[in-house]
Amino acid sequence: MYDYCVIGGGIVGVATAYRILEQRPGARLLLVDKAERLAAHQTGHNSGVIHSGIYYAPGSLKATLCRRGAQWTKEFAAAHDIPYRVCGKLLVATDSAEHARMLDLYERSVTNDVEVELIDAAELRRREPHVRGTGALFVPSTGIIDYTRVTEVLAERVRAGGGEIVLGTEITAIDESSDAVTVSAADRTWRARRLVVCGGLQADRLARLAGLSIALRIVPFRGEYYELPDTRTDLVHTLIYPIPDPELPFLGVHLSPTIAGGLTVGPNAVLGLSREGYRKGSLDLRDAREILGYRGFHRVAAANVRTGLRELRDSLFTRGYLAQCRRYCPELTLADLRPRECGIRAQAVLPDGTLVHDFLIERTERSVHVLNAPSPAATSALPIAEHIVSQLLED
Ligand SMILES: Cc1cc2nc3c(=O)[nH]c(=O)nc-3n(C[C@H](O)[C@H](O)[C@H](O)COP(=O)(O)OP(=O)(O)OC[C@H]3O[C@@H](n4cnc5c(N)ncnc54)[C@H](O)[C@@H]3O)c2cc1C
Repeated sequence: MYDYCVIGGGIVGVATAYRILEQRPGARLLLVDKAERLAAHQTGHNSGVIHSGIYYAPGSLKATLCRRGAQWTKEFAAAHDIPYRVCGKLLVATDSAEHARMLDLYERSVTNDVEVELIDAAELRRREPHVRGTGALFVPSTGIIDYTRVTEVLAERVRAGGGEIVLGTEITAIDESSDAVTVSAADRTWRARRLVVCGGLQADRLARLAGLSIALRIVPFRGEYYELPDTRTDLVHTLIYPIPDPELPFLGVHLSPTIAGGLTVGPNAVLGLSREGYRKGSLDLRDAREILGYRGFHRVAAANVRTGLRELRDSLFTRGYLAQCRRYCPELTLADLRPRECGIRAQAVLPDGTLVHDFLIERTERSVHVLNAPSPAATSALPIAEHIVSQLLED
């Protein structure tokens, strides 16, 4: 019998295992993932940004945990020799509507207690000569890191603390009784006193497998990236973001220096018909049937017809995608955009069509389920883990 079992070897699951062993040294802990390696899904396919927490609704879990997570991620990286860089981020307004939204965002960042500087068009040009806008917000604390590396180091700490990590094993049954939780894969079964499920793109299915009565479903949104050739990596030195649409949980196509020295463009947000199919046009019949038959999805689609069609068009025709980036970086050309593997966001959608913006965590007597952990959950993984573990240890 294990004391704790964690399902999911993305950054949230591994950080939770790490935190459990920090709080309960010597506990018997097992972490299981169906992929052959850690960080195989969202954690290994993201922008690598250490967000500062300016966007999120004041008082939300995202606002609180992101701010704390940004600091904690940098401290963890420094303590374990993980390369990271605090390059700062510019949020660039390109017309009067965006300029007005930028000023609202400035107010929000003040409420969220994140240091932000408001700069005008001339100052923007001075700092980033290849970027144009009517003004910008500069967030000095935003950084970049490789979250796969962070996850691997967390996993090394878990193993060093006596935790077991089993990969390549899909959990297909979860049974909770009054004294234990039994989790089963094709040919193996384990029992644990407590279970934490951090299943990312499969979070809703795992919750239903465990008997939770949840109304939401995970809808996959592909985030397609391009990378710039080596000759163009000097184009910008800070992260360059557009001003986001406050109605949508996605931040818009941005220019991101990577910790490996590259420069990426992306991600967009296009409906996916396969939760784990990374190739363009991937289709998984079960996933597609569930999404297209879901009332919540119909409502999202109806409320966002124009945005959805525009994203689809720009996904199919790179020229449209390029136009999004050229709003703030006019000298980018089609030849600069070289396709790179996409990421797939797990976005929880309620039956009434609400996109769940905040992190969502539910618990039963013996289990905790992370039902929605979209961006900035990589930045926030350590405080999310702390939040989960404090719930587990309450009992
Ligand atoms: C395109 C994109 C860009 C992003 N950019 C950023 C960013 O810059 N900064 C930031 O902070 N966040 C970013 N995010 C968000 C961040 O990547 C995620 O919030 C975070 O990685 C979620 O981690 P997770 O552990 O919950 O999920 P995941 O990393 O998806 O891990 C879930 C794990 O569960 C496993 N699993 C599922 N079902 C089973 C089963 N039945 N049995 C066993 N294992 C199972 C999967 O194999 C997977 O490894 C981005 C996300 C995307 C997609």
